[in-house]
Amino acid sequence: MVICKSIVASQEVINTQKQTNHTIGFVPSMGALHEGHIALITASKQAGNFTVCSIFVNPTQFNNQEDFEKYPVSIEADIALLIHYRCDVLFLPSVSEMYPNNGLKLTKPYPLSALENVLEGQYRPGHFQGVCQIVERLLTIIHPHHLYMGSKDYQQFMVISFLLQFNPALSTIQLHLQPTVREQSGLAMSSRNRRLSDENLKKAAALYQSLLFVKAHILQFTIPELEHLVTQMLLKAGFEKVDYISIADANTLMSIASVQPNQPAVVLAAAYIQGVRLIDNLMLN
Ligand code: AMP
Repeated sequence: MVICKSIVASQEVINTQKQTNHTIGFVPSMGALHEGHIALITASKQAGNFTVCSIFVNPTQFNNQEDFEKYPVSIEADIALLIHYRCDVLFLPSVSEMYPNNGLKLTKPYPLSALENVLEGQYRPGHFQGVCQIVERLLTIIHPHHLYMGSKDYQQFMVISFLLQFNPALSTIQLHLQPTVREQSGLAMSSRNRRLSDENLKKAAALYQSLLFVKAHILQFTIPELEHLVTQMLLKAGFEKVDYISIADANTLMSIASVQPNQPAVVLAAAYIQGVRLIDNLMLN
């Protein structure tokens, strides 16, 4: 695996591959890699792509300084994992490489409309602007044929789908959504899980259990009843705070009053345990 810390070096390696007609698959990440990330690398490799992973903890997408400072970093272990799974390039830029001249500020906001006023957008103001800012930069540098993202961050996937349509230079990139990889307990794998004690790691599985409960009881209760019941379940299981439990249209993420057979629906949740904010979601049909 080649490790490139500069934009120029990464483009040199990637352009050589493009010239020999290799397709490029790209997995952007913030590191502290786990099986969820590896599933994306593997999907890209299995599709025959020359595969690039980036690790960059992007300061502009954190609306909470403490969350940024405590974001887990394990670069040596990440490199070993990427080598093991035969990733071809690790792009590992510094903040000054991605934001030269301290240019962290967005000059023009992305018109994300309703997508950034609900759920993660509502509870993490500015988060998706920062995500678009960094992903647009990464895609402009690497310009992959295929982009792999995880369902765990479903709203982020929708935001990036928007970005690919919004910027015509990126419109040929094919976006692939991969299933959420879970611990045996059902807990969605996440870099933030590393901040949990063993005891809270076990308790955190209640987040997925609550989504399964919604799916199993969707016809039995009204949506407000379900949202209330599940919030109580999470608090009882050891979560300190629930930002949201939302049953929404899977194409718009707008909350819905009832689930119709022909309308794709998803339940999404965000809650805190041991001061760590976890998110998860589950398709309902
Ligand atoms: P992150 O490093 O958290 O920014 O995530 C990088 C990519 O990995 C994103 O596309 C995430 O959706 C994806 N990802 C994170 N956790 C999982 C998981 N448990 N299963 C599948 N994909 C995941």
